[in-house]
Amino acid sequence: MSVLELLKLLKKKEITPYELILEYIKIIEEKENVYNAFINVYKEEAIRRALELSKFEPDNYLLYGIPIGVKDNIAVENMELTCGSRILLGFKSPYSATAVKRLINEGAIIIGKTNLDEFGMGCSTEFSYFGPTKNAINPEYVAGGSSGGSAVAVKIGECAISLGSDTGGSIRQPSAFNGLVGLKPTYGRVSRYGLVAFASSLDQIGPIGLNVRDVAYIWTIISGYDPKDSTSVNVQVEKFDEIFKFKKYKIGVPRHIITDDVDKEIKEGFEYAIKKLTDMGHIVEDVKLNYWKYALSVYHIISSSEASSNLLRYDGIRYGYRADGEDLIEVYFKTRSEGFGDEVKRRILIGTFCLSYGYYDEYYIKASKVRRLLKEDFINAFKNVDVIITPTVPTFPWKIGERISDPVKMYLADIYTVLANLVGIPAISVPIQKSSNGFYINLQIMGNYFREADILDLAEQIFYENNPI
Ligand code: GLN
Repeated sequence: MSVLELLKLLKKKEITPYELILEYIKIIEEKENVYNAFINVYKEEAIRRALELSKFEPDNYLLYGIPIGVKDNIAVENMELTCGSRILLGFKSPYSATAVKRLINEGAIIIGKTNLDEFGMGCSTEFSYFGPTKNAINPEYVAGGSSGGSAVAVKIGECAISLGSDTGGSIRQPSAFNGLVGLKPTYGRVSRYGLVAFASSLDQIGPIGLNVRDVAYIWTIISGYDPKDSTSVNVQVEKFDEIFKFKKYKIGVPRHIITDDVDKEIKEGFEYAIKKLTDMGHIVEDVKLNYWKYALSVYHIISSSEASSNLLRYDGIRYGYRADGEDLIEVYFKTRSEGFGDEVKRRILIGTFCLSYGYYDEYYIKASKVRRLLKEDFINAFKNVDVIITPTVPTFPWKIGERISDPVKMYLADIYTVLANLVGIPAISVPIQKSSNGFYINLQIMGNYFREADILDLAEQIFYENNPI
């Protein structure tokens, strides 16, 4: 059931937070061993909190009794924070992320920490130390990633909504693979305080939900200025009831980026979206993104460079896992060799290479310059249009294991999603049709800076209503 429906029941006292949490725990007990969406579930704490909430008046809270899953690279006080990695095994967070605090202050119950590709690096949630999460629609297929656990937990009814993080598509792609709505807000909109850094200039926290309204509702709660994050921006956040105006938009379509590699049915779905939006009275126009074809390479150079620097802190001294060694260097060496998985090591190697003396100008600096050009592409396009649409992902989910030894093929899943992270604009993925294979066809809508309200409003107009499994 959606967050907004649940809130109605809770506010009318047709169900208590205690009764509700027991329902969710029951589903978790039934389904977790198949889907593996959570790394840790905090049943007792959730029940305790639900009982405590019963003493308070529901009307004073925006999320009274709502069970929420939080991706396990986002800090929740006193809960383990593993990032899907062995290297953080046993580490408990001493504080909560700002986004999480805002949810808790509104009466939400954090029911558990969801599975992810280690440190958010991956497209399938297969690169988790805790095993893969299975796709909610067909468990033989990948969940998408890296926020695969956050998506699947919502779809199979283990929580009402969840938080994910998105560095290059990790909220939108798993949302698309499981028939959900996922929003990556503008860079700086949601505080990154308490989000474990992967690539600091790209990372954003955002919601994954059953429908557009739920996602909008949570977005209004977690957004807003936070002095604890120096990249947080102080721009007014719309109120929930100001968002859905059913306005007519000028929609930009970069047709030239829909290449032959895109699945046929996804292409047809995209054409269907264009026709439907035109029929609704929106204006559709071609836009040109001159630098789009470099985006994925630029993304991997920049994100891996930032990651290689951010991940230096896992040295076996400060956090979690520590291997034995004769001296300090050996402790570092063994801890990092044993603690990180293959994909994380690959990114650290790429990043270290791109930043190394002699290659820095050729890779990191060059990529930063192309990133700037790509940004100009978008700034120019937004002079003429309100939003830009693409498919979210070029293909449907693949079978578990199918792409694990072909990382480049795996990375191609992000070809449309990385754009918004590199440019810093908001983007949403919304299911628009059911496909013949049981999965969904999804639309990505990108908006201008701080115009989340536009993309939410338009997404609501084309959203294909579907139910939890
Ligand atoms: N799939 C992308 C990657 O592998 C994006 C990950 C993310 O957004 N955290 O880097």
